[in-house]
Amino acid sequence: MTILVVEDEYKITRFIQRGLEMEHYTVDVAYDGEEALNKLGVNDYDLIILDLMLPKKDGIEVCKEIRARKIDAPVIMLTARDTIEDRIKGLDQGADDYVVKPFAFGELLARIRALLRREKTVKRSVLQVADLVLDPATHEVTRAGTPIPLTSKEYRLLDYFMRRPGQVCTRTMIGEHIWGYNFIDSSNVIDVSVSNLRKKVDGDLPLQLIKTVRNVGYKIIQEPR
Ligand code: CA
Repeated sequence: MTILVVEDEYKITRFIQRGLEMEHYTVDVAYDGEEALNKLGVNDYDLIILDLMLPKKDGIEVCKEIRARKIDAPVIMLTARDTIEDRIKGLDQGADDYVVKPFAFGELLARIRALLRREKTVKRSVLQVADLVLDPATHEVTRAGTPIPLTSKEYRLLDYFMRRPGQVCTRTMIGEHIWGYNFIDSSNVIDVSVSNLRKKVDGDLPLQLIKTVRNVGYKIIQEPR
């Protein structure tokens, strides 16, 4: 379980990081909103602890962007201000829970556990296109029952496609979602990754699931009903 802690106050960051590591969570840290978004473009996190007041981009903006990118990891907002308005704002932008500073570490932990438990049950629903199955809970991908080992980028690409069956995913959408917001595809890295993914998923099977949309991007087929 990897948790991203976004907080600009070094002491609080250290306090949360140490506490979580003692509970055997893997912790990554970002000290401002932009750094957080960059890390979220590169890594997968199981949960995000997000301070409201941050330099560069505040917690509300970051949360909005997280949900716009369809990152579904639960978000716990941290704030020094305990006003109803702030809570509503955060929750409206896609935060799952709220902790008011100063907080007892035990309370934060309990909320993390509750969200991760909920996540497990929600994420049980597998994605399927024809005989291709992706299980978000275990990150396992199979085609006709045969496991397909994928790199983390390939997995995220496939997850992105499978959540949008029949929809065209442009290179810009893919770049922003998988590689980060300010991504510039200077070395055809998207085409190369999709090509590798296709080799593993479709190979030379008669039913090719991932299609090229010329000059635009890619899509995974939508099954005829
Ligand atoms: Ca702060």
